[in-house]
Amino acid sequence: MSFSYKNKFLFAEAVSIRALVEQYGSPLYVYSKQMLCEAYQQFSKALSGIPHHIHYAVKANPNLGILSELNHLGAGFDIVSGGELARVLEIGAPTSHIIFSGVGKSPQEITEALLSSIGCFQVESWPELERIQSIAARLNIVAPVAFRVNPDIAIDSHPYISTGLRESKFGIPFEMALGYYLQAARLSHIAPIGIACHIGSNINNLAPFDQALEKLLDLFKQLLKHNLAIRYLNLGGGLGLTTPIQAYGQAIQSRIQDFKQAYPDMPQFTLILEPGRALIAKAGILVTKIEYLKTMDQKQFCIVDAGMNTLMRPALYDAYHEIIPVYQDQEQEQDPNRIAQIYDIVGPICESGDFLGKERPLSVRMGEYLAILSAGAYGMSMASHYNSRPLPMEILVDKQTHCVIRAQESYRDLFAKEHLIHLLK
Ligand SMILES: *Cc1c(COP(=O)(O)O)cnc(C)c1O
Repeated sequence: MSFSYKNKFLFAEAVSIRALVEQYGSPLYVYSKQMLCEAYQQFSKALSGIPHHIHYAVKANPNLGILSELNHLGAGFDIVSGGELARVLEIGAPTSHIIFSGVGKSPQEITEALLSSIGCFQVESWPELERIQSIAARLNIVAPVAFRVNPDIAIDSHPYISTGLRESKFGIPFEMALGYYLQAARLSHIAPIGIACHIGSNINNLAPFDQALEKLLDLFKQLLKHNLAIRYLNLGGGLGLTTPIQAYGQAIQSRIQDFKQAYPDMPQFTLILEPGRALIAKAGILVTKIEYLKTMDQKQFCIVDAGMNTLMRPALYDAYHEIIPVYQDQEQEQDPNRIAQIYDIVGPICESGDFLGKERPLSVRMGEYLAILSAGAYGMSMASHYNSRPLPMEILVDKQTHCVIRAQESYRDLFAKEHLIHLLK
């Protein structure tokens, strides 16, 4: 555990959070390099018995500092936009390790990805495939593709992040996949090399992954019968934070080993995973300052300087994040300003949905800091300037050292791209 208390103060590895926030201000995202590396190595180790590759889902946290650590560890990248492609190119990752997902790829994004020789397009509709074919033909490049199939599997997660159901906008219907592959294989500038799925996010139950993998293997078998040599099976991301990575890897490995035993003559394939949350969520915390303690009729509010603009997940998904004090005072020191209460922790944004946690017992006082845990994924990547608040800084801690991986924004940055209108009189 790389976030822990030493002498009542919270530390990231060997760096004091209080010292960081006093130096850089708040709100502040702080990441532990050690925790990120450990999560990556757990994935690697859990799949060591089969050919595999791990592609980090960039949208979880696209900071260049995070991407470059993952690149050094050997990860590939799963991108969903031209902007994410630009980030991955910027850190100098091997382009063959880039997978391009998403339902709405524009002609410009497809062109940029083809010219960068990315490893695979994950195609989500027939019109998208036709668009890729026509752009690839014009550029005289063969596009490596996988269809993202929709295995119609229900998961127990928030409806906004369930993607593998028949009625969702994602992927192609499973029953149509064989026909799509056979048609695609006849196109001049398309090379089907993989089968993909991604059934949703924050899934803490192994059965849906196992069912999805079974469907991928079944399709793999059918395609082989038609002489389509598929080299990659991509199970997507989506692992939640309470299921051990090791158990997840074990379930995948044993399903694949069973398959290999049942069909010993099958050609080799590489299993691909696209974890985002499971790699980076726990490695990050959001540090925020307590501005006010406020008592209303029935409720106590702890008003902090981070809000839905800084961490949107509670407001958007009703997500639960553990919230702990940076200075832990278990003995309730004789401090009249310190008030132990059940608090709603809310931000400064002018919206009633602006909360970070509800009904949390805390012993705190104004001016102190709180740490919101497991904020490394979909925290900063969803942050906005709403209410004209600059984005927070980001710090990456490595043992006793740290570096700023995103600098302070100024008020000027908020409107630097805007123009006053000079109307003609
Ligand atoms: C978002 C996404 C992921 C990552 O999901 P996590 O829940 O963060 O693991 C992986 N693959 C695709 C296609 C995605 O859209």
